Amino acid sequence: MKNKTVLITGSTSGIGLAIAKAFAAQGYNIVFNGLEADGATIAKSVADAAGVDYIFSPANMLDPAAIRALAAEALAKFGTVEVLINNAGIQFVSPLEDFPEAKWDAIIGINLSAAFHLTKAIWPSMKANKHGRVINIASAHGLVASEFKSAYVSAKHGLIGFTKTIALEGAPFGITANSICPGYVHTPIVDKQIPEQMKVHNMTQEEVVAKVFLDKQAIKKFNTVESIAQSALFLASEAAETITGIALPVDGGWTAQ
Ligand code: NAD
Repeated sequence: MKNKTVLITGSTSGIGLAIAKAFAAQGYNIVFNGLEADGATIAKSVADAAGVDYIFSPANMLDPAAIRALAAEALAKFGTVEVLINNAGIQFVSPLEDFPEAKWDAIIGINLSAAFHLTKAIWPSMKANKHGRVINIASAHGLVASEFKSAYVSAKHGLIGFTKTIALEGAPFGITANSICPGYVHTPIVDKQIPEQMKVHNMTQEEVVAKVFLDKQAIKKFNTVESIAQSALFLASEAAETITGIALPVDGGWTAQ
């Protein structure tokens, strides 16, 4: 039987990389994407370790033409994409009055519009197959807000709305669409915002971790990349065939409050 294929954006770092490893371990072919300079090497080592086939593309999620080319390349190589995981994302932390317009556009582009462009490009093949799984990596910030993250919170709320809409459109065709909403996970996106958080809150690094990152979670621990990866594997499984349109928090109880 032919291996299934998963396409994961932003899969050469952090959460996306952990998702790629988990799906590779289950025998999926992997379509890697990301902007890391050593992305091609990372992709090869993950695929080789699991003995699965793969391609790597540095397609920029800000460029709709490059996104469509990524979808075409994946379909040309593997014939189908059974699972699409829109994961690439960036963050920027600033009070509204200082928030740079270019950062707003980039966050909306990468964290929201890219999911629209890529899902639209893969959608006809999922419909033709009468099967598909779309998993969007949103955030606890898709469900609740924090100050100084206007663009990110807007993009992630939008991503959850997009996911619900395509869940309805995909239902007659065996396609499910769900969001995963992580709380804080210790990855480069979190490391990069520590100096910005120190500045806007006038805090030390230790205070940012305790009072900004973990304060809102009932469980005072970072969520792991593996917990997000295993959630994605479950949503991709046949056992999840009637789970669609949900936003699954993996957030230490943050959004329970
Ligand atoms: P990360 O910085 O480790 O990974 C982000 C990935 O996206 C990288 O591979 C990067 O190259 C890629 N990327 C960024 N801009 C891109 C672009 N223009 N084109 C193509 N690829 C691009 O961060 P992460 O924590 O693994 O984040 C993954 C997703 O999880 C993001 O959508 C993020 O918003 C979400 N998330 C993260 C956390 C957290 O605490 N880490 C919490 C909630 C949600």
